[in-house]
Amino acid sequence: MNPKRRPIIAGNWKMNKTSTEARDLASKIMLLVTGVQDRDIVLAPPFTVLQTVGEAIRGTNVALAAQNLFWEDRGAFTGEISAEMLLDLGCRYVIIGHSERRQYFGETDEMVNKKLRQALRKGLFAIVCVGESLAEREQGKTNEVIERQVTGALKGMTEADMMKIVVAYEPVWAIGTGKTATPEQAEEIHILIRRKVLALYTHDVAETLRIQYGGSVTPENVSSLMAMQDIDGALVGGASLKPDSFATIVTFT
Ligand code: PEP
Repeated sequence: MNPKRRPIIAGNWKMNKTSTEARDLASKIMLLVTGVQDRDIVLAPPFTVLQTVGEAIRGTNVALAAQNLFWEDRGAFTGEISAEMLLDLGCRYVIIGHSERRQYFGETDEMVNKKLRQALRKGLFAIVCVGESLAEREQGKTNEVIERQVTGALKGMTEADMMKIVVAYEPVWAIGTGKTATPEQAEEIHILIRRKVLALYTHDVAETLRIQYGGSVTPENVSSLMAMQDIDGALVGGASLKPDSFATIVTFT
């Protein structure tokens, strides 16, 4: 953490929670995190409960995010969701290029870039995910993969756009596996991402960019991760489904 950057903790609920369950989870989280003012808190429930969760957090310190969007404004794109639909439900953020989207739904760097352009064009803030697989890490390709994903996602972004982007470094081997990157392993890649952004933009843009870590973040490991200079927040999957765990992660010292 660096005091110049406001921490951002986001919970990615993935494909979990019916509307009754979502209302219950959101209200429990709200009881625990109201009054936390010195960091950004974001909830990313499934599309089907955005409205429900939006109602539970309206007017509070917690922001609503979607887990995906489509790059066209509207039309014959069965099963897709537009930026305008997300804004209509009160979303401020959208997660783009999560590794599960890349892995199971064939999202490429080019698609991630198109989604990012659309999100920003419509006024959403974006959390853009990058991360290497276990095989890529073992083959010594981590840096190359991260640089390619960062460059691909950010293609065409202006300095002003960069102010609305958060990058999430999520090593695929650490997501949902209980295997967290060590703070040092995560920090090394966060520095790499910041250097890449410095090469593409200005010192200010690189220094302002918030980079979250994601991958089996828990109440037990959040403080050691957040103690690193270049780790500015967490993208939390599994632990965000448990109100106490998520609240403890949000309120890390
Ligand atoms: C995620 O979904 O972005 C994630 C990091 O999941 P988990 O915390 O369960 O590893």
